[in-house]
Formats: sequence, C-alpha cells, structure tokens
Amino acid sequence: MAEKVEGLIKAKGARCAFPINICVNSQAAHYTPLKNDSLRFSRGDLVKLDVGVHVNGCIADTATTVEISTSNWNDLLRASSDALDCALEMLVPGIEVSSLGAAIENAISSHGFRPIKNLTGHSMEKNNLHAGITVPNITSRDRSSLKPGMAVAIEPFATDGKGQVGDGKGGNIYRVIRERKLSKDDANVFLKDVVKNHDHLPFASRWCAEFSDDYLSLIKKHWMHRNLRSYAILSEVAGGMVSQAEHSALFLDDSVLIYTR
Ligand code: MN
Ligand code: MN
Repeated sequence: MAEKVEGLIKAKGARCAFPINICVNSQAAHYTPLKNDSLRFSRGDLVKLDVGVHVNGCIADTATTVEISTSNWNDLLRASSDALDCALEMLVPGIEVSSLGAAIENAISSHGFRPIKNLTGHSMEKNNLHAGITVPNITSRDRSSLKPGMAVAIEPFATDGKGQVGDGKGGNIYRVIRERKLSKDDANVFLKDVVKNHDHLPFASRWCAEFSDDYLSLIKKHWMHRNLRSYAILSEVAGGMVSQAEHSALFLDDSVLIYTR
C-alpha cells in the first residue's frame, strides 16, 4: 500500500515530503513499512494514514483514519474529524494557536475522548516540515498567532487512553541531520545519494534499497555516527486507541486556503 500511494504521488509529478505513515490502533505516528514488510491489516484495525507531498519543497501534509471492515470506533473517528473541522472553520489571518487548541480539546472532550497533548500541528516552510510554530491539541498559553504567508498543518489526535504518546521502537523513518564523513567511501557515497534524492526531509529505509544492497547496515552506520536521526514509533502510553485527522492551511492576506481538501 505504501508503494502504491508513494508511486501515485510521483506519477502526479510531486514528491514525498516524508514516507507514508501507516499506524494501527494505539500507534499514533511514525511507522512506515520495511521493504517486503509482512505486516497485514486485520479486521477491526483502526488505521491512520498520514501523507506528505512536496512540489519544489512546498509541503502539503494530510491524514485520515479508517477502520478495517468494522465500525466499532465511529465516535472516536468523529472526535478527531469534528475537532479538525471546528479548527478549520475558525481560521482567519492572525488567529492565536491557543484558541485553536482550546477548540480542538473541547470538540474531542464533547465526544467523551481525550486529545493527545504531546502531539501538535505545525508550521511548514520550504523543505522544512516542522518549521517552529506548533498548533496544540489542548488548551495552552502559547500566544503565537498564524499570519499571512504561513503554511500550517492542523492535526487533532483523539484517544480513549491517557491522552499522551511515548517513544517505542524505530519506525523505519530517518532524516539526515549532518553529513560528517565516515572512513568507508561507499558509506559516504550512500549518504550523498540520500541527500540528493530526499534533501533533509524524512525518508524511509526502503527508499534506500536503490542506492545499495547493503542499505540497512549503511543506515545503521550513519545513525550510529549521528548523521541520521531515527524516528521512534509514537504510541498511546495507556494503550488507548488513537484517531487522527489533518489538513494543511495557507494563510493569505485576508483569507485562508485549505489546500489539502
Ligand atoms: Mn501528517
Ligand atoms: Mn503534520
């Protein structure tokens, strides 16, 4: 599925801003399949699909949640999608992120669930997915405001758990954070290929199979030398089910364009 979605992005003439995130049940973010991953969806799974696309470094980030063949979690799905709709309706240039967080928390709570407090929306800049400003999913004292010229992803997460995610094992997603040379030439060529193809945006380990048969050990080597950052799977700390909805908004002079809808 990941290969199909990512192939579609390329066929449209765009590029992946990050590997498609496919997260099941209590996983909230940062899992992408390995090459030939044996993971399969099961009946009743709650699946988050989070897709990022860029054209010349300008990023669109959007996500949705689906349930596989059952409908046990309709209320939870509605909690995150209503919260997103609620926030999108409020968008005007100059709006404070704190008022969006309060509205998101209120919408999710009114469905009887909790927002995930340590996951947030984020501003985006050219080739930079998390550009500094965050949009909280809870009430906060952050007085930042969203101004003309900004692109911002808003992404409420709802759960029947504690409302918090923690780090799990690696989710096969990496990013180049520096380019310190290693002793082996093949390792240096490999890192150059990664940067050439994916800039400093997140990439999937399986995307590197085209650069070397030895890609998994080369990734590990660069990770150990701190040239790569690895992203851990973020899962709900109490094992709660998690739903997510996300759209990207561009703030213009006197209006706001939701450009992933
Ligand atoms: Mn996303
Ligand atoms: Mn996002």
